[in-house]
Amino acid sequence: MTTTLSKAAVLEALAAVVGANHVLTNANDLEGCLVDWRGRYRGEAVCIVRPGSTEEVSAVVRLAAKAGFAIVAQGGNTGMCAGATPMTGARPALVLRLDRMNRIRWVSPLGDSIAVDAGCILAQVQAAAEGVDRLFPLSLGAQGSCHIGGNISTNAGGTAALRYGTMRDLVLGLEVVLADGQVLDLMTALRKDSAGYELKHLFIGAEGTLGVVTGATLKLFSRPRQRAVAMAKLMSIADVLKLLNLTRSRAGERIAAFEVMNREQIQVIAEKVAHITVPFPLDTEWYALIELADISPEPPIAGMMEALLAEAFEQELVADALLAQSETQAESFWKIRHSVSEGSKAAGYVVSHDSVVPLFEQGTFVTEVEARIRALRPDARIVMHGHVGDGNIHILAIIPPVADPEERFRQVDEINAIVDDVTARLRGSISAEHGIGYANMQRFARVTPPLEIELMVRTKRMLDPDNLFNPGKLFDM
Ligand SMILES: Cc1cc2nc3c(=O)[nH]c(=O)nc-3n(C[C@H](O)[C@H](O)[C@H](O)COP(=O)(O)OP(=O)(O)OC[C@H]3O[C@@H](n4cnc5c(N)ncnc54)[C@H](O)[C@@H]3O)c2cc1C
Repeated sequence: MTTTLSKAAVLEALAAVVGANHVLTNANDLEGCLVDWRGRYRGEAVCIVRPGSTEEVSAVVRLAAKAGFAIVAQGGNTGMCAGATPMTGARPALVLRLDRMNRIRWVSPLGDSIAVDAGCILAQVQAAAEGVDRLFPLSLGAQGSCHIGGNISTNAGGTAALRYGTMRDLVLGLEVVLADGQVLDLMTALRKDSAGYELKHLFIGAEGTLGVVTGATLKLFSRPRQRAVAMAKLMSIADVLKLLNLTRSRAGERIAAFEVMNREQIQVIAEKVAHITVPFPLDTEWYALIELADISPEPPIAGMMEALLAEAFEQELVADALLAQSETQAESFWKIRHSVSEGSKAAGYVVSHDSVVPLFEQGTFVTEVEARIRALRPDARIVMHGHVGDGNIHILAIIPPVADPEERFRQVDEINAIVDDVTARLRGSISAEHGIGYANMQRFARVTPPLEIELMVRTKRMLDPDNLFNPGKLFDM
């Protein structure tokens, strides 16, 4: 679509909608939103627009459509694949930031639900749930800055997905501004609804390509009254999986998290992140972080954890284990886990992966990918961490920096090809929770069956015929 409006006229019209203070054009303001969290990609935008209501979002969308501007919705800009970076080529882009739309609309303990603006920060929603003695379970390292709109649009997973599912499982209803400015009001709090297609699921995980999410109704849960957190040392990924299996048998629904890191990962964190205490010598290959939680305060859940670890010792699955003796110690264990992204980012050029495979294929996946990357790149540090209970171990190869972009691309793609090959063979997916964004487009095209891509492209054309929303992401239109 071509525009007949000058840039100045568009800025003036936007200011008339949201207020002049909320159309930001100076370089300092723009800087933070032009670069992705990992610092890999840099985009361009004419302005940041900060609407204060759904009606204002709708008016901005109509205006952008008329002016031929692209709209790139941005939450906390903590995404891992440059999905929120404005990479719109020759087309002028406006970055739509919903940080002023941060109201808790209502919360109902009886309905176990909460309705929020999409610009709410995740930690704010967790706190609002806690305020009515409930739990909003999505939990991830960026929870102090990522937005609910971003969490929905990436279908975020995090450390509690094993127990409560991903964001897709936590959304009851949605409010979305469509490409023609209409507001699709699906803000239901229903637990069951079999009337027709479940439209909200189109927008969850769509990475801002189909509409702007402006509000959501989310599920709440009973709040755990006690937890027990332990770190266990294990010799192999096979033992990690056996321990997961044993934990499932003994603790069932009380497993709040089951995360792993390999030795190299913890070493990187210890080297690069301040105030980290590693509680034991790093003399085994794998480290599991297990949290059990119970909504009942009695009997002490630490007893269940102790019995589990004792049984694991007897079966020679764990070499050593530490049960946190206080909340402070439990938090210090979690701090190690939550520092993986910061540590890896500081350690060099990271080729990171977000593959997920069926749980029963996870041992094969990790062993084969690690061996093939080591054979290809003996100079790489291979760090692994993640959500083993979900089949989603992030494998990262940290390689020496390469200045020439073409050579860097070649080296990165060689490593990606290994991961993608094993992922596809085991019927996995290259993105469990981070999305495709800009960074993974070529890989997505390579591994996804043409019929699936075709249906996605048709859906995009139907909902956004002028490619207004986040062009240049997911797939090439
Ligand atoms: C330290 C750290 C740890 C992390 N750990 C995890 C983890 O364990 N699990 C996990 O899943 N992720 C993790 N992430 C990645 C990231 O935090 C999530 O992807 C998060 O959901 C992104 O939210 P955001 O608000 O920052 O979105 P952004 O990065 O701003 O945007 C992400 C995508 O959503 C779109 N979008 C944003 N808001 C809207 C909206 N209102 N309407 C439509 N589209 C929108 C954007 O256009 C973009 O495509 C981590 C990131 C960091 C920095």
